[in-house]
Amino acid sequence: MSKARVGRALRIRRMFEGFDPYGWETPSREIAAAVGLKPEEIVRLDTNTSPFAPSAELGALSRVAERLEVNQYPDTTYLDLRRGLSGYCGLGVDRFVVTNGADEGLDIVTKTVLDNGDEVVEPVPTYSMFRVASEVMGARMRYVDRDPDDFTISPEDVLAAVTPKTRLVFLCNPNSPTGNPMGLEDVEKIVKGTEATVTVDEAYYEFWGKTAASLTERYDNLVVCRTFSKAFSMAGVRVGYLVAGEATVGQLNLVRPPNSLSVISIMLAEAAIRNLPEMRRNVKTIVSERERVSNAIRKMGTVSPYPSETNFVLFRVPGGAGKAAALHRALTEKGFVVRSYPASSAVGDCLRLTIAARETNDRFLEALRKVSG
Ligand code: PMP
Repeated sequence: MSKARVGRALRIRRMFEGFDPYGWETPSREIAAAVGLKPEEIVRLDTNTSPFAPSAELGALSRVAERLEVNQYPDTTYLDLRRGLSGYCGLGVDRFVVTNGADEGLDIVTKTVLDNGDEVVEPVPTYSMFRVASEVMGARMRYVDRDPDDFTISPEDVLAAVTPKTRLVFLCNPNSPTGNPMGLEDVEKIVKGTEATVTVDEAYYEFWGKTAASLTERYDNLVVCRTFSKAFSMAGVRVGYLVAGEATVGQLNLVRPPNSLSVISIMLAEAAIRNLPEMRRNVKTIVSERERVSNAIRKMGTVSPYPSETNFVLFRVPGGAGKAAALHRALTEKGFVVRSYPASSAVGDCLRLTIAARETNDRFLEALRKVSG
């Protein structure tokens, strides 16, 4: 028997009036029901995850489970994982803050630097959690538009948007959803040109291979944010990390919760970092598939793919946002879910495709050929 509800909903913070939350991905089961397919017929190509099973050592989880003291909290300093990261990144163990996915890393940065009414600068379009994490802290966004043709942005344009109220600049490098990178000299110009904290989200670093991480040696106002969700095939495990100078790491640790990762996640991340050749092989495969798929799409001539240094490809649909929505629907009816954007966005007439394993990519290309011809 259900009890009647007592009381009212929370009186929440006034900043939520008119607030635009992160648009959560629709579950496959709901998409399947909407288009009359079975949930197992739905292929998710909208979340930029890896098509590969994680490292073989991770499959041995059951054998090592007895080693895990799940009745205990983890080592809250995450020292062993930081040692692994130290070897992977070539930086000291005191240069890392381990986080529950990159998203918690972004949260830790905004909680550390933003007061109510501060300003945050970001080139758009970009990853929408930068805005969400900032607005939740009561900050105001100042957007800088990327070039409409190739999505580049100059460091001068970013710095021109900085005011005395700016406390944080977000750069996604390479950028999502556009796939293009900003040169490291330009990143450094921005870091040098402002006293605001510059957070460089390198979620797709491994697919490009260039990083601002070593710049944290010289600049205390730089924080690099990374994840195990993409190249390491571990989106469901929820591990990320921040890289910064030692003093900055100390400040970020003021905010970091002590136990946001489970002992299981920590063990899986430690195993992944011991198996770098496997991750590197997978990255190579994805990069070559990305080029193969982009070329095949370009040859079809119906939609226009942009160059990408990530594990996804953004393509423009001629004829505008309405045509992009129709193509999205047609692909979904074939079981392929790609990422679409609000019509008002700079990428409203674009769709974003996550690169999967070869056989899935071939089936996707076949479907695209059929529905866009
Ligand atoms: N940053 C960017 C640019 C992303 O695309 C994503 C994943 N969608 C994240 C951060 C979040 O990563 P994580 O799974 O580690 O929270």
